[in-house]
Amino acid sequence: MIEIHLSEKVFLVTGASRGLGAETMLRLCQAGAVGAVNYVADPDERNRRDAEEVLKRITASGGRARLYQADVSDAGQVEEMVGQILADHGRLDGIVNNAGIIRDRTARKMTGQEWQSVIDINLTGTFHVCKYAAEVMSEGGRIVNISSISGVLGLFGQANYAASKAGVIALTKVLARELARKQITVNAVAPGLIETDMFRQIPEEAQQRMLGQIPLGRVGQPANVADTVLFLCSDLAAYITGQVIHVNGGWYM
Ligand code: NAP
Repeated sequence: MIEIHLSEKVFLVTGASRGLGAETMLRLCQAGAVGAVNYVADPDERNRRDAEEVLKRITASGGRARLYQADVSDAGQVEEMVGQILADHGRLDGIVNNAGIIRDRTARKMTGQEWQSVIDINLTGTFHVCKYAAEVMSEGGRIVNISSISGVLGLFGQANYAASKAGVIALTKVLARELARKQITVNAVAPGLIETDMFRQIPEEAQQRMLGQIPLGRVGQPANVADTVLFLCSDLAAYITGQVIHVNGGWYM
């Protein structure tokens, strides 16, 4: 029987208070990883409460994890978070750069602020976490960056988002080369249409249009993405680096 064990390895997942991040963190902890659950603070503390719920689910399934607050677009907060993880656990074995936002609008109507906020969180945030984590990460560590099908297809109304996710793919390939000397693998996962809050923000008509282009004819589930990340974080994927794994029901092939 082949099983995946991440026993005692410390994994950070950004934007893990809900959606794909929460599911991925749970999956890694179910495989024995010690979880560092990142969330970003908001004025009414909804994210902290959501992250505490994730922590309860991890504990209920026999796993171990702690919460870490940081806005990934802020280099200082990321540096502090990585330092705190190291102080708490003495090691960092893997990161999943999952935090992301969408601010869809045609390029003609898109404001500079809408462009910049998406680039700042999705692309610059991924860079910040990779930069500070890679400095302290164990030999043989794992980095998984969550890109998107939009980063390769360039979906309508997503100039900011598609550019940020294409950037994540390029960043992944550069880091795969730069970090290979420490046997750290760096890969991207590019989900298609997955049923999370981000998917529910898409108008029904647009959802149906997209579903019509997906050979498997259905929306993906967060577990489909989480399982792919788990594989890339495991010893089974030790010789895979610099790749983009598409999880999209055949929408892009
Ligand atoms: P989601 O439900 O909106 O969750 C995104 C998470 O990122 C939330 O926890 C969010 O916190 C957090 N976040 C936002 N800004 C942050 C910041 N500055 N610092 C730290 N965390 C921050 O989205 P999702 O569907 O799970 O998507 C997760 C990732 O998959 C994203 O990178 C997304 O682009 C990618 N993706 C999703 C799909 C899909 O169909 N769902 C498809 C392709 C790619 P808040 O609660 O404050 O928002």
